[in-house]
Amino acid sequence: MDQKQDVFFIITERGKGVPLYVDPGKICYINEQRYLSLLSQESESQILPVKFLGDSLEYKVDVGCLHQLTAVYAGFLQAIDVDAERLDALLKKDALEAAAALKVDSPVLVERYGVWNPGTVRYIGSRNKGAYYDCISGTFFRIDLGEGDEVWVPFTQVKPDVQSAMEPAPLSVPEQAPKPPPEDPVQEGDRVVFFTDHEKRARRGMVMEVKQTNGEMMAYISTDRDEQGGKGGDITLPIGCVLKEKYHPSDMESMAPYQQLQDTGMVNGSSITLYSRVRVKLAKGFEYGVVRWIGELPKLEGTRLGLQLDSKSGVSDGTFMDKRYFMCPPKQGLFVKLSSCSLDIPHASAGEKVPTSSTSTKQTTQHYETDGESDNVPPVNSEDVERLLIGRMKGIQGHCNSCYMDSALFSLFSCSSVLDSLLFKPAEPKDQPIQRTLLRDIVNPLRRHGFVEASSVMRLRKQLQERGYCATFTTDEKDPEEFLSLIMNKILSLEPPIKLCSGGRIQSSFCYQIFLDDTHNLILPTVQQLMEQSFYSGQLKLSEVPSCLILQMPRFGKNFKMFQKIIPSLELDITALISEGPQQCLLCGGLAGLECAECFRDPAFNTNGFKYFCHTCSSQVHSHPSRRSHKPCPCFMPDGCLHSVAPPRDKMELFAVLCIDTSHYVSFLKYGPNTTDWAFFDSMSDREGESDGYNIPEVRACPEVARYLDMPLTQLAHLQPRDMGDLAKRLFCDAYMYLYQSPNVSLYH
Ligand code: ZN
Ligand code: ZN
Repeated sequence: MDQKQDVFFIITERGKGVPLYVDPGKICYINEQRYLSLLSQESESQILPVKFLGDSLEYKVDVGCLHQLTAVYAGFLQAIDVDAERLDALLKKDALEAAAALKVDSPVLVERYGVWNPGTVRYIGSRNKGAYYDCISGTFFRIDLGEGDEVWVPFTQVKPDVQSAMEPAPLSVPEQAPKPPPEDPVQEGDRVVFFTDHEKRARRGMVMEVKQTNGEMMAYISTDRDEQGGKGGDITLPIGCVLKEKYHPSDMESMAPYQQLQDTGMVNGSSITLYSRVRVKLAKGFEYGVVRWIGELPKLEGTRLGLQLDSKSGVSDGTFMDKRYFMCPPKQGLFVKLSSCSLDIPHASAGEKVPTSSTSTKQTTQHYETDGESDNVPPVNSEDVERLLIGRMKGIQGHCNSCYMDSALFSLFSCSSVLDSLLFKPAEPKDQPIQRTLLRDIVNPLRRHGFVEASSVMRLRKQLQERGYCATFTTDEKDPEEFLSLIMNKILSLEPPIKLCSGGRIQSSFCYQIFLDDTHNLILPTVQQLMEQSFYSGQLKLSEVPSCLILQMPRFGKNFKMFQKIIPSLELDITALISEGPQQCLLCGGLAGLECAECFRDPAFNTNGFKYFCHTCSSQVHSHPSRRSHKPCPCFMPDGCLHSVAPPRDKMELFAVLCIDTSHYVSFLKYGPNTTDWAFFDSMSDREGESDGYNIPEVRACPEVARYLDMPLTQLAHLQPRDMGDLAKRLFCDAYMYLYQSPNVSLYH
């Protein structure tokens, strides 16, 4: 390996030894050998001799002002030319991660003048040489915009094009594959795995030579003869497109992109679509259920349907070989061949019932016999949102303080299927009318026409009242969480998705109320930070990854907000919050064995969250005088796990935000994968007529909120709410509840 390796840092604040001309955000470095020998001396020195990029002199800088970077991230950040912006960019960990995963020929979106355009990566690397004494210069992306148009951009202006990546053509290494450590480059003689444009399978071979061609490192590979009889040969690929075989175990090759089918719904000309009611023949007779998923399963031939059966005669809860495809109660899920199912048509002709095998299934099929629109409807696809959902008289029509219910139902059901098992689970006879109203009068019309009349929600409220749950359900303003917990818990007895564990005990819950004690120092928090801080204060962990995570924001009473603004985290990384999951060392990225509670608040780590370390890094970190009193505890380690391989991250994705302003609830939908895929819903946006009139609900596209989500934190912090756009202000300042779902059950990917 190269002897002249450097360790990189970014200056986080002005402090001792930082030259006056240097602003926070500047990148500096020290030779790795020297750094390690200084560390091993245990001199208790707080001073590190570093050089700044663009300056050949050495400065002795207080380590408190430094934050360590990987060489790759240092290159990405150096491409940003304003120091302060570099520090903001560092906080966008997701953007850095996404950029690091990009390769030559990756389809991407590029930001130019505030607009994201599609393009293709042609080159990743330096644009021009830095000063001759600099060890690195900025890493840029050269993007082909088509028609001979090309731009050079830093990582902040480029992101993977999720839509286009879904199309089968340019295949890259699947995301599930563990990322190889950057310090282990492909070399001559290595066995490697790679993907080519025209084949979906991974191919294998041996690297014969690595050399630079036109400024890019290329690998010359002698390919293996494959089992299908394809002949071996030679291929030349950019080094970034080649993976060492040891990082790509063979069982990852066959993962089919199952969600492609799910979006189109139609299967091979059959009229069975997502959410169709079907009949399936099992050994003991016919069973009935709803199609919740369509696609291909690993190691199985042909198209499969994931069914949620009416009865508990299935075998799964929506998982197959430990991977989740949809959510349903245990023993109601069943994966079957398309050919073994037929459509269950409840009203073949008027008044006639389809004969069923038992009276119990007959009862449930009757629920779906409605006025000519008996099929259940899948959530609105992100591409159909504009056509189906956006406009005046769209969404759920408000009436008489119903906004808490309107906004909760709209958020949960219009574009997400995460709680659909509520609609299809077997219910007690006394609860069936409520479930029927929910499915037939609210969710189906919402997804089919994008509109629900006020009378439908009123029917639901009356039914709740008749059941004696609350005398004021038809008249008064309530909290959305009160309504959700009533429906999910008391009436339809759904298994609570959140499993909190504290001191060995496990508690289930439907939503999680963020609670902060007064020791935090958050000012402009992200939802991620709030969740971590709250779990830290409460000494809580999650015992499993929830399918649905509803977070309530901290408030004192109904009206006092704890923070002027909260930044919605589009993704919530809950890896560190899972009690029995493998953790990643904060410093080296390898598998961690220790957790340190005291380090949680240590300002030296300006990344938030729980602090896990491997044993080597922990002893280094805790040899520092200020941390010698810490007591790191062993954390969960999976048996037989490969050392130094970073565990996969568990992430939840944001799909809706409920907001409250002077007792009126409204909601935002994050309905698609693009940053601008936002819609705003108000069930009482306008009114026609006086006391005998009616409310006009409205759904508005609000792509403009993306601008604020992309804004550097320092700029956002200084922005007065009155200077923000009207809708952005509501999203950032009035958030009441954030709704996250596991990406495994989301429909766009
Ligand atoms: Zn480590
Ligand atoms: Zn510590």
